[in-house]
Amino acid sequence: MDKKQFPILGIDLGGTKIAASIIIDTDTIGKPKRVPTPHGKENIIQALLKLIEEFKQDNLIVGVGIATAGIVNPDTGEVIGSTGNLPGWEGTPIKKIIEEKMALPVHVENDANASAYAEYRASKFKADTCLVTVTLGTGIGVGIVINGSLYRGAHFAAGECGHLKVSLNNHRRCTCGLWDCWEAYGSGRGFVATGYDALSKISAHQSKLALKKEKLTTEDIIEAAKDNDLVAKQIIETWHEHVAAGMVSLCHTLDPDCFVITGGMGKFVDYVLLKDLIMDMTLPRISEKLEIYPSSLGERGGMIGVAELVLDTFNSSAKYTQSLQKK
Ligand SMILES: [Zn+2]
Repeated sequence: MDKKQFPILGIDLGGTKIAASIIIDTDTIGKPKRVPTPHGKENIIQALLKLIEEFKQDNLIVGVGIATAGIVNPDTGEVIGSTGNLPGWEGTPIKKIIEEKMALPVHVENDANASAYAEYRASKFKADTCLVTVTLGTGIGVGIVINGSLYRGAHFAAGECGHLKVSLNNHRRCTCGLWDCWEAYGSGRGFVATGYDALSKISAHQSKLALKKEKLTTEDIIEAAKDNDLVAKQIIETWHEHVAAGMVSLCHTLDPDCFVITGGMGKFVDYVLLKDLIMDMTLPRISEKLEIYPSSLGERGGMIGVAELVLDTFNSSAKYTQSLQKK
């Protein structure tokens, strides 16, 4: 199949914004268009329809891929479990609604899964490998590609690794209601919580961060570390230990070839430090050849990956038709 003949509209629906771009031959065409995510299910549907209509007016589109937060059944295109970022989104039959209104084939996928698929297709790794993406953002998302296919689990919830338990101390409550989930420590939110923990143990003269006691941000800590603030440096090192803790569990579960790090917090990762921490806590056979590298696709991963999944559905239905014709 010549992919150039199959322009797909790739849409990434997140808690704060919806990003969309025409995808041709595994790349975005032009700068993705971004609109704020409205509040409420009906408003989100209307925003998606408006975006698709706008792209349809100026472009030939043969399919639509929608990467969304939440647990998704990709066969039915329904959101079967939502996240706190999209309240009320659970139970939405996105594929059915959009296909009926737009008369275009639609594929819906969890955003971390879509991103993982794009990273796998863009990587040097081929069919017999295991690639895991770790999205370090407000929370933590994981996508798993094994032997060239997404691993979605028995209930489409594989990769909800932000809720791996990394401590038994009942120290931090996660947004999901459980205690000591990985994302309560390794996410952007966790990073700032670690900052507050550190500030509670020092006196005001030990760090200029003490002045920010009421409204500490990620940027405050990063900037202070650049100014050689020792407390800030320690917070960053502790955060790396927290990020490594979840990845070590994934190493021992999946024995992956590589991790690809993406998400807004990804730019603060020290890859040498992270790899050292993981090697210290992982069986040597697993960690020796393990690769860890930053995403090459960044925020575009979700929309590119879901567009590639639309093309895959075209390929598999074409193969099915051919097999029927041979009978
Ligand atoms: Zn949790």
